[in-house]
Amino acid sequence: MGADCMAVTVTPGERDSSELCQVPVGAPGRGQVRVKTLAVGVCGTDVEITSGGYGQPPLGSKRLVIGHESLLMVDALGPGVSGWNTGQLAVGIVRRPCPERCAPCSRGRWDLCVTGNYLERGIKGLDGFMRESLVEDVAFLVPVPTSLQPVAVLVEPLSVVTKAVEEALRLRDTGATAPIRALVTGAGPIGLLAAMLFRSRGLEVWVADRRPAGSPKAAVVTACGARYVDTSATDLDDAVGDVRFDLAIEATGFAPLIFQAAALLARDGALVLTGVTSGHHSIDVDANGLNRAMVLENQIIAGSVNACRAHYEAAVTSLEKWQSQWPGLAGQLITGRFPLTHYREALVKDADAIKSVVEL
Ligand SMILES: [Zn+2]
Ligand SMILES: [Zn+2]
Repeated sequence: MGADCMAVTVTPGERDSSELCQVPVGAPGRGQVRVKTLAVGVCGTDVEITSGGYGQPPLGSKRLVIGHESLLMVDALGPGVSGWNTGQLAVGIVRRPCPERCAPCSRGRWDLCVTGNYLERGIKGLDGFMRESLVEDVAFLVPVPTSLQPVAVLVEPLSVVTKAVEEALRLRDTGATAPIRALVTGAGPIGLLAAMLFRSRGLEVWVADRRPAGSPKAAVVTACGARYVDTSATDLDDAVGDVRFDLAIEATGFAPLIFQAAALLARDGALVLTGVTSGHHSIDVDANGLNRAMVLENQIIAGSVNACRAHYEAAVTSLEKWQSQWPGLAGQLITGRFPLTHYREALVKDADAIKSVVEL
């Protein structure tokens, strides 16, 4: 039978409970493969889980293996598996349909699950990928070409961005042929991937962040042909002046910025919120002004989370396209690579870091 492997586990709800320990791997059953984990990206969700603010262990367990942004390599096939070979690279899909198989889940749109009883690897009720090896259903693996190996750990965050950008484009589908101008607030991995996706679709893009203009984040923004707006010393509305935006993606979750971005929408504009926030943050908002603008100018504010298989596949296609469009640029988003034994360093963020990755 399968041996044990090393994994990073936490006790959800308990502060700083993370540790490296042995977990069982098992043998692949029907429709399953055993995979080696090559890399796991770390994001704000992982930091929140390891600090005790989020996460849910699998049923009957106290500990949860963390990690949801994966790059895997198939190393053993279970019975009845076709179309997969050992050595094939893949990214694991994070969310799994709810047991009730609600209408969206039963048509593969588990990202829109209405019961809320979905499971998520490394987050909610299902062990994650920050482990040397695991057994996975091929139904929840997305194949990745070998050429993408250095950046494929970005497929999961890019799948989330792909959904948000598609939502924004769908919501503002006025049939206008004029160039569309997009605003992205926050130049973390989500904001930068959104900027690259908008740019690769030919939009004019402005990206605002509080890091200075010479920072690594600003360098990625300008390299993809977007305009960087330094808000370290200036409010966003002062920095952009009279410019208005047809689309906006808010990627910080910082309450004042959400409303500043809403106030910068053009007529028929759409703002999509992607930043997850915990706790409470009350601010003064001119609610009448916001309502007036939204009604009289047909504006939309929407939220977007997670992704379905089609978004993962589109993310793979985008990363392939970007390799020739902007050689090496996606790789600039990975600013730290750490071995499994140093996973704690990947969970600490300095202001100029973009994406930290644990390599196995
Ligand atoms: Zn993430
Ligand atoms: Zn569901």
